Formats: sequence, C-alpha cells, structure tokens
Amino acid sequence: MEFEAVIGLEVHTQLLTASKIFCGCSTRFGAPPNHHTCPVCTGMPGSLPVLNRRVVEFALRLALAVGARVNPVCVFARKHYFYPDLPKNYQISQYEAPIAEGGAIEIEVDGKRKRIGLVRIHMEEDAGKLVHDEKRPVSYVDFNRTGVPLLEIVSQPDIRSPEEAVAYLKKLRTIVRYLGICDGNMEEGSLRCDANVSVRPKGSSEFGTKVELKNMNSFRHVERALRYEIKRQIGLLLEGKEVVQETRLFDEAQGETHSMRGKEEAHDYRYFPDPDLVPVRIDEAWIERVRAELPELPDAKKGRFIEEYGLPNYDAEILTASRPLAEFFEACVKLFPHPKKVSNWLMTEVLRELNREGKEIDETSLRPEHVAELLKLVEEGVISITAAKKIFPEVYATGRSPKELVEEKGLRQESDEAALEAICREVLSENPAEVEKYRGGKKGVIGFFVGQVMKKTRGKANPKVVNQILTRLLEE
Ligand code: ADP
Ligand code: ZN
Ligand code: MG
Repeated sequence: MEFEAVIGLEVHTQLLTASKIFCGCSTRFGAPPNHHTCPVCTGMPGSLPVLNRRVVEFALRLALAVGARVNPVCVFARKHYFYPDLPKNYQISQYEAPIAEGGAIEIEVDGKRKRIGLVRIHMEEDAGKLVHDEKRPVSYVDFNRTGVPLLEIVSQPDIRSPEEAVAYLKKLRTIVRYLGICDGNMEEGSLRCDANVSVRPKGSSEFGTKVELKNMNSFRHVERALRYEIKRQIGLLLEGKEVVQETRLFDEAQGETHSMRGKEEAHDYRYFPDPDLVPVRIDEAWIERVRAELPELPDAKKGRFIEEYGLPNYDAEILTASRPLAEFFEACVKLFPHPKKVSNWLMTEVLRELNREGKEIDETSLRPEHVAELLKLVEEGVISITAAKKIFPEVYATGRSPKELVEEKGLRQESDEAALEAICREVLSENPAEVEKYRGGKKGVIGFFVGQVMKKTRGKANPKVVNQILTRLLEE
C-alpha cells in the first residue's frame, strides 16, 4: 500500500516593532536578563495592557499580502495555561475573531506551482524564556521576551511532503522580510514553526490522526523531523498499530522525534475575550492606507524580472528570494545593461560569498557600482573572466574598486596587437609539426597554439585577440 503525508504548519513570527505589544518596553534581542520589563509584561496585579497600533499595521500588511480577509472587528482572548515563563498564567492571543482569515501562499517545488491555503492569521504576545543553570539544579526566568508581538500564521493541511513544507516556510519568510515586519531569523527564534503531520493511504479523502512536532530551529530540521515522523507513522500503520495524537519534540542529535505530551484541546485553555482590551475595529480606510504602502511582492517581482529582463524562471526565483538582492540586481543592470550577465555573476560569485558568511547583500561592503565596473572590464576585454573571478573575493571583502585592484595586481590583459603578434609568430615557428597539421585541415590545433601564447604571457593575453591573430597568420 502507498501512503501520503498530510501536513499543516503553524508559524510564529516575531514582529520588528520597537516596543512590545501591550507595553512600552523594548523588544531588542540580547539585552541582559529582565532588562526590558515593566509591571504590564511581568503580569503585576492591577496593571493594564494597551495595544501597540503598529502590531495591527504589521498584521494588516501580511493579511493583504497573502490575500486574507480582514475581520472588521477582531478580539483579543486569554489562553490559559501554567508555565513559569508566563507570568499572568494566560497568554493574550486571539481565538474566535482573529485579525484575518483565508488567503494563500504560492510555492514552487520541482517546477510545479501550488497554492497552500491559510486558515487564519492572529496577533498574540510571546512568552518569556527559561534559562537552566548548568552547575546547579535551578532555572531562571528571563521576561525580556514576554510581550514581544507575534503573528501566528496557520496553514490549511494542504502540504504533502517535507520539501513542500520547506518551500512554504521559505516563501513565508521571504514575504515577511519583503514587508519589513519580521527578520525571519530561525536560529534566533524570530520565525518558529510547529508542524502538524499525519499519513493516509494514497487516494483516501479522510485525514489520519495528526502529531504536532516542535523544536525545529532551521529549515533542515523541519525537513528531517517531518521525514522521520512520516516514516514512523507509516511504520505504525503497516504493523496494524494506531498513531497517537500527541506533541513530539525533534531531537536534532539523533534525528528522531520523541513524545513530549498528550495533545491539549482548545477547551483545555478556557479561552475567553480579554476584558482589559477593547475589540479592534479596522475600517476600509485603514486597510486601503496599508494596501497603498505595500511593496512589490516576491511573486510579482519574479514575474516582472522574467518579462522585463528576459531572465529564466530559475534566475528570477533566486534573485527575488531576497528583496535586497533583487534591488541590487536592478541597480547593477541600470549601470551595466546586460541582465543575464549580471544575473550569472550574482548567482555564482556573489551568492558563494554571501552563503559562506550567512549574510544578506545589504550587510556587506559590496556595491552595485563594483559589480557593474567589474563586468564592464570583462566586456571591454581589459581583463579576462578568470582574472575577474580571481579579484572578486577581494572586491567583496574590502569594498575596493575593481579598476584599482586590476592596476595594482597587473591583471590588465595584453590586447596590443603588435606585441601579441610577435609572440604568436614565435609559437608558430617553434611548432612546425602542429602548423602542418592545421594546414592539413586539423583546425582544432588552434586551441593548442592559443594555450602556448597564454603560457608565454602568463595568462595575460586577451584570448579573443590571440585567436584572431593566429587564424590570420595560419591562413596566410
Ligand atoms: P488543533 O485544534 O489540534 O490545534 P487545528 O485544526 O487548529 O488543530 O489545526 C492546527 C494545524 O494542524 C493546522 O495547520 C492544520 O492545517 C493542521 N492539521 C489539521 N488536521 C490535520 C491532519 N489530520 N494532518 C495534518 N495536519 C493537520
Ligand atoms: Zn513591559
Ligand atoms: Mg489550533
């Protein structure tokens, strides 16, 4: 029997607001423990929450970007549970009336496009952090993160494989970054994902029992955890056993998932509207104001790159996956109007450096002027493509001008016809047997002669010019 996986993701994104969702404390990451706290975010009796308007704006940006319906009135609700990182013993979240419902995110896997539907987007506050002492059996609580605004984005169970799950997460991260509402850093926890997964016989229209996976802080972990879990569940079904509905933690060292707790139901949380916060009314005017300020989104930009610059789908996909990279590309093309050449350079030489350092292009000293200048030097035959590749890491690292580096390192190609002709003649007279072969019809030998000239000039001869001279001399 063949099985298929059914996956739905619940993603939490920390918003890039300066202050927390219900108080004026800073949201900055990495401050000393309990530095950014006040009576509100530490749950002191009698303190009252006041909603940060910017959180609603950010939620609206995302809702509009993914085509979700914005509820004209949304309500904050208390979600009750006990845990030491939750000082009020309830989390302010949204339940019955979230800010937005519906919408979809389009993904592409193996050249196939697919829409993953969204159930809802809601606003809520983050919890604090427990810090466990390594030497003594005690734990500390850091409330800096308590009250940092989150958007939770819940997908429909439309995802069918670990690859699709990762494509969905990457696309969602690209969108929130384009919108400037979240930095999308999974390692630091500003984008977190819980994955719900079940399996069923292929072709079946019913869903199997689902398991919720937690504790995956990279795309790779999400993929590994899902792969393991799908295999585990199929194994159970093949043995005639049942999948138990539960929450499981991914153990990255072993690459396995382990049971953490039975799954809680919504009624366990005793949700009810928070009496300290009034319902939020969002009128058409507000929605339209936010819509007017939306940037060009990844899918639209990708389509435009294909249309306007004649780029292949593959190039457009990679370049638009990051807004700074897409903008960098366009700036380069303005200065050096050969889109495919710019794209090739960015996708190989530039991305290699960026991936090595784990940086975005706007976090480096590289400027569009440098890339354009370098490509122009190659285009005009001043340097070879090999020389360009050789100096690029230094251009990237230092932000120095390629022209300057070319002069300093003496990489300028020898294009002076007279000088090159002399060397060509020398090579021909040194290799009479090869010259005979060429004249006898074996035109391929020209490659050998070019190679010899390059050797004599220590790679500095312009191969195009050398080729022309050799052909002329041999045909004489
Ligand atoms: P719960 O009430 O258990 O939290 P929800 O209906 O709210 O479940 O769904 C939570 C997430 O689980 C959603 O992303 C949804 O798409 C996904 N999901 C629901 N049912 C299944 C299933 N049978 N298999 C996999 N994922 C599922
Ligand atoms: Zn506070
Ligand atoms: Mg749920």
